[in-house]
Amino acid sequence: MKQLISAALMIGTAAAALAEYPEKPVTIVVPFAAGGPTDKVARDLGDVLRKQLNQTVIIENVGGAGGTLGAAKVAKASPDGYTVLLHHIGMATAPALYRKLPYSVQNDFEYLGMINEVPMTLVGRSTLPASNYAELRKWIDANKGKINLANAGLGAASHLCGLLFQQAVAVDMTTVPYKGTAPAMTDLLGGQIDLMCDQTTNTTQQIEGGKVKAFAVTTLQRLTTPALAKLPTLDESGLKGFNVSIWHGLYAPKGTPKPVVDKLNAALRAALKDAEFIKREEALGAVVVTDSRLGGAEHKKFVEAEIAKWGPAIKAAGQYAD
Ligand code: ASP
Repeated sequence: MKQLISAALMIGTAAAALAEYPEKPVTIVVPFAAGGPTDKVARDLGDVLRKQLNQTVIIENVGGAGGTLGAAKVAKASPDGYTVLLHHIGMATAPALYRKLPYSVQNDFEYLGMINEVPMTLVGRSTLPASNYAELRKWIDANKGKINLANAGLGAASHLCGLLFQQAVAVDMTTVPYKGTAPAMTDLLGGQIDLMCDQTTNTTQQIEGGKVKAFAVTTLQRLTTPALAKLPTLDESGLKGFNVSIWHGLYAPKGTPKPVVDKLNAALRAALKDAEFIKREEALGAVVVTDSRLGGAEHKKFVEAEIAKWGPAIKAAGQYAD
C-alpha cells in the first residue's frame, strides 16, 4: 500500500513538472555561426517561441564541421526539453558525408517539426569581371584551378549546393570551409572569396545593397521576392534540372517526454502562424511551412526521403570526412 502511494506521488510529481514546463530558459542550439541564415531563422523563431512558451529562449551557436558539432551536442544533451536543435538539410546530408557521425539522425532525436523552405542563390564578390550568369560561366572556364568557393563545411547547405554546382559545370574549385556562412559572407564582401551558394536569408540584403554579384537562383522557378525576382534560375541558364531548396526543422534529444515534445510542437505550430515571423521570412525569400510536415512524424518521414534523395549524389562525388 505504502509503495502504491509513493508510486502515485512520483507520477503526480512528474506530471506536475511537465505541466510547468518550461520553468527555466530553453536553449536553441544553432549548429552554425551567429549572423548567418540558420542563426537568423532561430533568432526570429526564438522571438515568437518566447511568447508562446512564456519563457526566455537562448540561442547558442555551436558552429563547425558542417553543423555536425551542434547536432552532436543536442543528441547528447539531457532529454528534458531545455536544449533543442534548429538544423537544416544538413540533417539529411551528413549521414552520406561522415564515416563516423557521432549521432544517428534517425534514432537520436525527437522530431518537433519543420519550419520553412529556403531557396539558395549563387553569388560572387563584387569585383568579379562578370555581371550575369553567361559571363560568369565564361570566367569560370577561363580560370579553372584558380577559383575559390566558400561553404560552411561538409554537410552544410552551401556545401551541397557548391558540390552540385561544381559537378554541373564540371569545374573543380578550391572550397574554403567556415563555421557558417556569416563569416564566409564577410570574406566574400572583402573580396577574398570568389563565389558562394547560400540561402536567400543570408544573401538578399547584400544583393539588394549591391554588395555582392548575384548570378542565379537554385530553384526550378524564379522567385517572387522583389530583390530576387530578376534572377534567372540555374536551370534556365543551361544547368538543366539544377534544383536545390533547403529547409529548417526543430529537434529535441531522443527520450524527451511526450508531453514536452507536444508542448514544443504546439508552440512551433503557433509560432509559424505569427504574422510578423511570416513577413520577416517572406522578405528574405523563405516560405514558412503550413503543411503536414509541421508534425514531428511527418517531418521525420520527409527527412528520411531527403536522405534517400541526396545520399547517392553525395556518395557519387566521393567526398567523405571521418
Ligand atoms: N548557410 C549555411 C550553410 O551553408 C549555414 C549557416 O551559416 O547558417 O549551411
